[in-house]
Amino acid sequence: MRIAVKVGTSTLTHSTGRLDIRRVETLCKVLSDIKNAGHELILISSGAIGMGVGKLNLSARPSDMPGKQAAAAVGQCELMYVYDKLFGEHNHTVAQILLTGEDLREERRHGNFVNTLQRLLELGALPVINENDTISTDEIRVGDNDTLGALVAVSVAAEELIVLTDIDGLYTADPRRDASARLIPEVREITPELRAAAGGGGSALSTGGMATKLTAAELCMAAGTDMVIVNGQRPDILYEVLEGKAVGTRFIGKKA
Ligand code: GLU
Repeated sequence: MRIAVKVGTSTLTHSTGRLDIRRVETLCKVLSDIKNAGHELILISSGAIGMGVGKLNLSARPSDMPGKQAAAAVGQCELMYVYDKLFGEHNHTVAQILLTGEDLREERRHGNFVNTLQRLLELGALPVINENDTISTDEIRVGDNDTLGALVAVSVAAEELIVLTDIDGLYTADPRRDASARLIPEVREITPELRAAAGGGGSALSTGGMATKLTAAELCMAAGTDMVIVNGQRPDILYEVLEGKAVGTRFIGKKA
């Protein structure tokens, strides 16, 4: 199977912005094992800004654009250093691809990206993709990595996009505020009710939340790609997703 995995800042770092070493080590081990089992893997990783905040000892995520871009420039190096080291321990080679929205919208650049990604997979490398935050301005950026993950998964016809986040899946209401909220195991259509249930979101260090995940799911479903949202707290959950167990929320891609 060709699988895209999107990992959010909240899975990779503590609330300080510093790396969650134990979790990231497990994540890289599980992903390496999935690759060893013969699956093609593409990783869409956030965490550049969050890790930049940690590395630069900033007290909070910057709110201005140059501040975010500077943090991303520092954090992206750190992120790739960690991936290179941890995947290297399992004999996997990582490749960094940084994209803007424009790269995906403009036909020629999109074609180049897909060809390169395809070749990297043929070479057995593990592409690690993030938005090119350091040069992305409002006009050209994708803006959030849930959407970026979906655009990448669809571009290379991945069978599924697995989104690792800090909650078990999509709920009928915000489970942090409403005790009667129930996890929704399967979604076949994004309805206005679902959008209302998803609310806004994001944590102090990251961008997304459930709203961007629904947008991503919509893109995937329309292209026939399944998307699954699961809690990244325990990266072993990826095995359960691939074994077809009912974990998290699965958005079913439309089959022609
Ligand atoms: N590209 C951002 C980063 O690496 C994250 C965007 C997102 O999480 O949606 O920090």
